[in-house]
Amino acid sequence: MSDPTSPFGGFSIDFGGAGDGDAAPLAAAPITAAAEGPHETNVLILGSGPAGLTAAIYAARANLEPIVLAGYQPGGQLTITSDVENYPGFPDGIQGPELMARFRAQAERFGTRVFDVEADRVDFSARPFRAWAGGVEYRGQAVIVATGASAIWLGLESEERLRGRGVSACATCDGFFFRDREVAVVGGGDTALEEALYLTRFASKVHLLHRRDEFRASKIMQERVETHPGVEIHRSVVVDEVLGEDAVTGVRLRSVASGEKTDLAVQGFFVAIGHRPNTAPFEGWLEKDEKGYLVVDHETHSRIEGVFIAGDVHDHRYRQAVTAAGDGCRAAIDAERWLEEHGIVEAATATAW
Ligand code: NAP
Repeated sequence: MSDPTSPFGGFSIDFGGAGDGDAAPLAAAPITAAAEGPHETNVLILGSGPAGLTAAIYAARANLEPIVLAGYQPGGQLTITSDVENYPGFPDGIQGPELMARFRAQAERFGTRVFDVEADRVDFSARPFRAWAGGVEYRGQAVIVATGASAIWLGLESEERLRGRGVSACATCDGFFFRDREVAVVGGGDTALEEALYLTRFASKVHLLHRRDEFRASKIMQERVETHPGVEIHRSVVVDEVLGEDAVTGVRLRSVASGEKTDLAVQGFFVAIGHRPNTAPFEGWLEKDEKGYLVVDHETHSRIEGVFIAGDVHDHRYRQAVTAAGDGCRAAIDAERWLEEHGIVEAATATAW
């Protein structure tokens, strides 16, 4: 069922059972703006990808009445992918936006309030912790930071236009759709080389495109791509354009040395030039590692008591929807236990929120 007003790109939920007297509507109307504040909750969740919404499902079912600030890209990175075939429970696959709409409906069914706003500032100096989105204040006795990471794109108009139509930033998600096709991967780090090798399982040929002569990736990965018969390496080339109207038909390459342009025919184009964790509002509050990802102190706890971290904003290793969802579950359970241990839940639920 399609709903063009949905924040998840046109998907809404139809679980069947319409007309069934027992069937309760699963999704509340999206809350797109909150004029006044402050809005108060036991658990304030920042981010609405698999980590944030799974945390919301668990927190809501623990009667913690969570609030989710969904961010500029409600649903997270899965809303820019097409078919998802590796999320357990969907043997026939599911569209990324629809999967995230289901996560959200499930969270809302148990009372989560989801605001389609982006937290731009936080104050974690005292409880209740505070976050602001567009000047409106939100307060949480505990906070779960699940703002995810964003793929870095080349920034070409054609790349954006063909995203989900042959352009992808996730070989694990989309590689399967390129069986017996030729594909290209751009990048020279470990991610690009790993994605290129992964794609050899499906593609008839993988072209690895790198802007320099030398790879940034580890030596072992370099050896693997250099010796793999399914990978052709193109060094010192930049991608000027992704070709195709409705689907990718190729890429236009430019030699860094000569400026000469050549067209390479491929049906898939994978961008693997890195990810950027979405950490801007937490600058000065939460610790980051050398790659810019948030540091988890123990389990899902941050170094600030009562502030928890889940999903890709700290995980640059697995970066899967299912691992992020698992992390969100852990963070919600940690937050619930922490609130209980500190006697906050009872005190909070006794107030008239
Ligand atoms: P990365 O190491 O930062 O590499 C990014 C690559 O993309 C670089 O080769 C860079 O080229 C290229 N690039 C950046 N901007 C570009 C642009 N606009 N046009 C064309 N090329 C561009 O990122 P990553 O590969 O995602 O890795 C991130 C971290 O995770 C690394 O520390 C990596 O070792 C780690 N990682 C580890 C594993 C593993 O251990 N299995 C797997 C994946 C990632 P230049 O080299 O010219 O700058």
